[in-house]
Amino acid sequence: MESDLVAMASRRGFFWPSAEIHGSVAGFWTVGPLGFRVKQRIISLWRKYFVDDEGAFEIETPDIMPESVFEASGHLEGFTDPLAQCNSCGRRFRADHLLEDCYKARGDPVEGLSGLGVEKLGELVEELGVCCPRCGGSLGRVKRFVLMYDVDVGATGGVRGYLRPETTQGSVVEMRRVYESMRAKLPLKIAQVGRSFRNEISPRNVLIRVREFTMAELQVFFDPEKECVPEQEVLDRFKLRLVLDGENEVRDCSPLDAVRLGFVPNRLIAYYMAKMQWFFTSVLGFPVGRVRFRELGPEERAHYAKVHFDLEVFTQPYGWVECVNNAYRTDYDLRRHSEHTSSSLSVFEGGRHVVPHLYEPSMGIDRTMYCLMLDAYRVDEERRWLALKPWVAPYDVAVFPLVRRGGLVEKAREVSKVLRGGGLVVFYDEKGSIGRRYRRMDEVGTPFCVTVDHLSLEDGRVTVRDRESMEQVRVGVDQVLDYVRSRGVPPDDPFSPPVAGQVLEG
Ligand code: AMP
Repeated sequence: MESDLVAMASRRGFFWPSAEIHGSVAGFWTVGPLGFRVKQRIISLWRKYFVDDEGAFEIETPDIMPESVFEASGHLEGFTDPLAQCNSCGRRFRADHLLEDCYKARGDPVEGLSGLGVEKLGELVEELGVCCPRCGGSLGRVKRFVLMYDVDVGATGGVRGYLRPETTQGSVVEMRRVYESMRAKLPLKIAQVGRSFRNEISPRNVLIRVREFTMAELQVFFDPEKECVPEQEVLDRFKLRLVLDGENEVRDCSPLDAVRLGFVPNRLIAYYMAKMQWFFTSVLGFPVGRVRFRELGPEERAHYAKVHFDLEVFTQPYGWVECVNNAYRTDYDLRRHSEHTSSSLSVFEGGRHVVPHLYEPSMGIDRTMYCLMLDAYRVDEERRWLALKPWVAPYDVAVFPLVRRGGLVEKAREVSKVLRGGGLVVFYDEKGSIGRRYRRMDEVGTPFCVTVDHLSLEDGRVTVRDRESMEQVRVGVDQVLDYVRSRGVPPDDPFSPPVAGQVLEG
């Protein structure tokens, strides 16, 4: 089923391995015209709910930053994966992935590997007699491998830089500037959408583990001594799906209870977790039962995080996959940059200097899009289709003349123009049998197809076919825009944001 979807994605213009005519390098993908639209829609929706509704400030910092930034942030030391190299063929592998494959082959449970240090992984590799999966050679000592790409900046190569592995550090080093220039107040919310680069040792699973990808990140800087999220009723009614460290079962727990019971550190974090779960289910369309927050234990957490929940979605064939990292980074980043640069990164509020704490939901767009496609892909005897919500589908609507004769083409073009003029993304097609045209649109997830037939010229009505039910209704030409548009509106945000950062003074 997955290989079917990947073949469709490449054939129909969603994504494919980059630079195929040059043999491609693993972990780099080109996002084609339809995939680009889906990605842009996910980003626009994220922007609507997490930037605009939140009064966040969206910025753009460079992809390349100097080495000192990553020294200060701890990435040079801590952003590593365990590497095992074959003594015979020289190929490199992720030690934990080799062990995972070995456990799977033996039918043993795989849990408990992530977060193990290189010494322990090395011991396990030896104990289990893991060899090179390519040539069967022995493996060398397991070492830490820095995942960032380094770059020489300038013709003389005087400055060493790195391609960023996350957008966070850009926002952290600009926090004071944004706070002051926007005359903001805490909680200050800074957003970034951009590319991140990670030299993954073993990229795999299509778009799930790649070496260059897009992230949408929100950095929320807040005063740890002030609770700024009111006890809104929605936070008592909503059910967060939490899997706590050391547990296997989901606890359905309201965000306010999660704070009261000490599962989540404060209301601000519980609020964003609830909003993100709602975004994944009500907006992106993942079924509620296939979304959960898994708490990471101390050995699994990133070097900067005090509390860390991964928002995971359940997919076939990968099981639970992390799509959003939700990390409470405390004042770690600001403090480290302040120490390394001797700059003060506190703000003055309420008569005192505060070094804000940082909470960050960080979402991978490519991985989320792929999981969404895996979840939405349907096949039956008659057809294949992508059951995407209309607001994340690549096209809003397709328009077809039933045949190319009798003035139908002109009428259908007119209908397309009206729909495009109304802001919809329209696919127009007049070639081939109508059945085949429907199937092609089903395959890429177009929610509605509008067909102009001979009767349309007489009664001013067209046929609108629904992708899910395949039902057809006759709708007046002057109503078709409203008909399609009204079915493509994403839900309203049920949460009221904590005090917006965009309150200007004076
Ligand atoms: P992280 O900071 O590693 O937890 O990553 C944050 C998010 O970025 C993850 O939840 C994924 O959605 C995405 N992500 C991280 N690494 C990769 C990768 N190698 N390929 C694709 N997406 C990734």
